[in-house]
Amino acid sequence: MQRLISIVASSIMVLALFGVCAVQSAGAAAPLARITVEAGEHTRVDTPVCVSLDGVALGFPDAEYVLREVGSSSRRLYSAQVAQVEAGSPARLWFVLSGETAAGAKRTFELTEAPLRKLPPGRGPSKSALPISVRKHEDYYEIWYAGQVRVLRYNHAIVPPPEGQDKLYERSGFIHPLWSPKGTVLTNIHPADHIHHLGIWMPWTHTEFEGKPVDFWNLKGGQGTVRFVKFLSTTDGPIYGGFEAEQEHVVLKTDSGEKVVLNEVWDVRVYNVGGVSKGYWLWDFKSTQRCVADSALRQVKYRYGGFGFRGAAEWDEENSVYLTSEGKNRKDGHTTRARWCDTSGEIDGWEGVTFYSHPENFEHPEPMRIWPSGQVFFNFCPSQATDWEMRPGEDHVFRYRLYVHEGKIEVADAERIWHDYAEPPKVTIEAVSPKEAIMLFDGKDLSKHWTAGKDKNDEEKKIGWDVEGGVATIAPKSGSIWTKRDFTDFKMHIEFKIPQMPPNVKGQGRGNSGVYIQRRYELQILDSYGQPARKNEGASIYKFKEPDKNVSRPPGEWQSYDIIFHAARFEGQKKVKDARITLWHNGVLVHDDEKVPNKTGAGRQEGPDPGPILLQNHGNAVSFRNIWIVPL
Ligand code: MG
Repeated sequence: MQRLISIVASSIMVLALFGVCAVQSAGAAAPLARITVEAGEHTRVDTPVCVSLDGVALGFPDAEYVLREVGSSSRRLYSAQVAQVEAGSPARLWFVLSGETAAGAKRTFELTEAPLRKLPPGRGPSKSALPISVRKHEDYYEIWYAGQVRVLRYNHAIVPPPEGQDKLYERSGFIHPLWSPKGTVLTNIHPADHIHHLGIWMPWTHTEFEGKPVDFWNLKGGQGTVRFVKFLSTTDGPIYGGFEAEQEHVVLKTDSGEKVVLNEVWDVRVYNVGGVSKGYWLWDFKSTQRCVADSALRQVKYRYGGFGFRGAAEWDEENSVYLTSEGKNRKDGHTTRARWCDTSGEIDGWEGVTFYSHPENFEHPEPMRIWPSGQVFFNFCPSQATDWEMRPGEDHVFRYRLYVHEGKIEVADAERIWHDYAEPPKVTIEAVSPKEAIMLFDGKDLSKHWTAGKDKNDEEKKIGWDVEGGVATIAPKSGSIWTKRDFTDFKMHIEFKIPQMPPNVKGQGRGNSGVYIQRRYELQILDSYGQPARKNEGASIYKFKEPDKNVSRPPGEWQSYDIIFHAARFEGQKKVKDARITLWHNGVLVHDDEKVPNKTGAGRQEGPDPGPILLQNHGNAVSFRNIWIVPL
């Protein structure tokens, strides 16, 4: 067994470093889910894909997962790779559809949890071993490929302008350098012709706010600027790594001084495809912008502004070219629209970047600003087409994919990547509960594993909850239910849905229920959508600890708890070790191996005996489905 574990362990290391290889299926864990990928109308090559995990029970959302292809030619040998879970509502599973998948082809995979990760629970893999990682510096964060080469740098500290230039040019919140796989710098900042150009950046140019013009692009005017605020997350992973950074677009002069008009979040992620040997990177840029002022930011029709790219200092008219998806070039590309635009040039060999605008972007296919002569500047600019407005509270999302490549672009490659981005393969997932799991509620019958206690005559009471359409719903006044079996250590999955309560119902009356572990410790269930994380709100360890983050969904939506529980340890009647609870709420870790020193609220006293799982009836019609438990 030890040998098998070490073989599996080293396979995972290899998989993590190189993405894909073949391993024997012998000894593989039972699958958690079956995944089918349909290529659709287009041939796919090393395509990053994802699928929603809504309703899929993984049990260890931040564990390491392995995907094995169900091969058609050999039943014994599978190709396998690591998959990655993206926390969120719902969580998503990411993997690379590796190799070539012909148009029309269908591939099937089984998802298993890497055995290494089972114990101790809740601990992620070693970050340094992950293919795409974020390295944090005081002034900037960099995304690295395979721990060896840099892909890009995001500058979060203020970068001063060149000496002698106005202080107004200082700026944070942009990408520079963007490197090619062989290490060439493909961006430029502060060029003498346009000091305000900053690698890859996204300010607006011709806008109006409170009746006055504001230019966030041409910093010298002193009307507006964009600033980094904070990082919301960083991710190291086997499939992608990156960061989310919050920025603000600031009007520098209003009647009441500076004012933030736009709050912006950059989501930048680099995929584990291509690399140095294959001579390309693939990464996604997403900017979500919201007007946070009392009045709208008005965008006035103009020839540039938005997602901008200032090309390498060495690129000029002689040694660089443009090509758009519509066959336009440097001379005739400006003001045309395209799905993608490539620009490339020669420094030490030929290298370039293809920019893709997502079909859901405003004004897609977006008009572009392409400099007709001189150095390389490129900009997707929706404002070229029309006046438009960013109204208070509205989100505007701009998505771009960047294909950084060696050599000149092949149209076939550019189009293939376009199809991957715009019309990705169809991925479906079907959950399989773990083999060793006890299905506490499979949608049919509560009475097999649950009890509502005994009546006066010591007869088993009938459970009064409603069971319909695969869902059990609390009938008020019918009492709580608990498992017939007692548990010590376990992992458990449960899905629940809180009913929409009338607005006059407040606080603890809003869809209250709870999962009482061993009938002692309550994980609160409550409508806490949009509330601050509190000790008595949803996902709290009731009145003991609030969740690290409130990720509650609105009433009427299914939510999940994935729980790992280690019971308190006793020597005789004396407690020697506290109980420990790990909880993922909707796939997000909110209690990390938390020591719980005492029973909560109305729970029963602690003691050396195991206990059942109780689902609390607090008089609200909370629904449940897909409940399973694995004793550890
Ligand atoms: Mg409760």
